[in-house]
Amino acid sequence: MTTDKRRRCPSCQAGELQPTSYEEIFKPRGKEVRVNLLSSECSACGARFTSGSQHDENLKRLDLRRAEYGDVLLGEDIVAFRMRYGITQTAAARIFGKSKIAFSRYENEAFYPDASTTKLLRLAMEMPQVLKKLADAAGVPIPLWEARCADERKTKVVGLIASSAKPQGTVFWKQVPRHDLSSAKLDWAEKGHSSVMFAPAANDEVHGVEAQAS
Ligand SMILES: [Zn+2]
Repeated sequence: MTTDKRRRCPSCQAGELQPTSYEEIFKPRGKEVRVNLLSSECSACGARFTSGSQHDENLKRLDLRRAEYGDVLLGEDIVAFRMRYGITQTAAARIFGKSKIAFSRYENEAFYPDASTTKLLRLAMEMPQVLKKLADAAGVPIPLWEARCADERKTKVVGLIASSAKPQGTVFWKQVPRHDLSSAKLDWAEKGHSSVMFAPAANDEVHGVEAQAS
């Protein structure tokens, strides 16, 4: 008998791996969402393995369930948020005022964050300063805070375009650091420009604010 090396069971070395699938059931706030996931099973010992390509496909299928979640956060989104800042589950629980095992339950979706925790988490995901404030208040360090701030600085904003009653095509431009953009926006608005708009810069060198009369 010839056994394809790629399909031989790494566990018992005797059986062959056969493609199979299994269903994972999620219950975001009372709903029932079923996802069919791919796997391989040993015909001899019953051990299960997931190949790289199966794993990739499974991630895609899991992501599709997002559409049925509404406001409910996916476990993997919470994991990604925590990892982004290098925060442990225990640290996250302290920051957001939850019990020690709360984040482990949220992340494997044994339990979903209540509505107010969901709102707070989403706010912190969208506005890192909220996370920083909460972490400081809880006395919890954020290991990757500086690294994420450096990422943020790389995403400079170059354009602030405004239309006004000024002669058509007039371009106003001035250098403005990223953190000053909202005040710059106000400043331009006071000068009679409207429909102000930001555009992210393509590189690190240029940053500023541009206003154009139309
Ligand atoms: Zn086996």
